[in-house]
Amino acid sequence: MNTKVFRNLSYGVYVVSSLDQERNTGCIANSIMQITSSPATIAVSMNHDNYTNSCIASTGMFAVSILSEESDSSLIGRFGFQSGKDVNKFDSVDYSVKEGLPIVNDSCGYIVCRVIDKMETSTHTVFLGEVIDCDTIGTAPAMTYAYYHKVVKGKSPKNAPTYLPEEDAANDIPNDSSTKKWTCSICGYVYDGDIPFEELPQDYTCPICKQGKEKFKAL
Ligand code: FE
Repeated sequence: MNTKVFRNLSYGVYVVSSLDQERNTGCIANSIMQITSSPATIAVSMNHDNYTNSCIASTGMFAVSILSEESDSSLIGRFGFQSGKDVNKFDSVDYSVKEGLPIVNDSCGYIVCRVIDKMETSTHTVFLGEVIDCDTIGTAPAMTYAYYHKVVKGKSPKNAPTYLPEEDAANDIPNDSSTKKWTCSICGYVYDGDIPFEELPQDYTCPICKQGKEKFKAL
């Protein structure tokens, strides 16, 4: 099998949110699809290891915020590369509450769902959600997963259904002195700006996950 073919499937970049008791939480997902229009129903695939998975299971509710090409890419680091067990991911995020669930305002739309069924795989739960509220926000185009990879230069969290082990920055970039690149060891972001990395200020932070310069390593 040539699993690279999966890269030819199309995905988006979403914040899936739910509640841990009263506390807001959420994570990044890319595998969401509309199943039917009436009653409006969508499906989301969520890794068992994601804290949000157990929150959706216990509340029977989830919301999807659809990130746009203009959404702050630090949202992906905040929601995709740290655990809601450790931090309150909605701290310092501009959000609204819809049907009791938090949705990210810096997005191009939201969908709130009540879980009507689920299916387990060895690593992921597929939640089927009946839509109870949804709306568009602004006019920016939705961020596709391809855009995230090619323009934002982000990588897949290991829990993403689409994660491939060979999706490692070291495999994408030749390792010779003329093409020296720096990659974030946390999220895989590759720095290839005009300024030599060594000359960046000490307080430089990764635009994806906001980790400091010390987390970058040369390729
Ligand atoms: Fe990073």
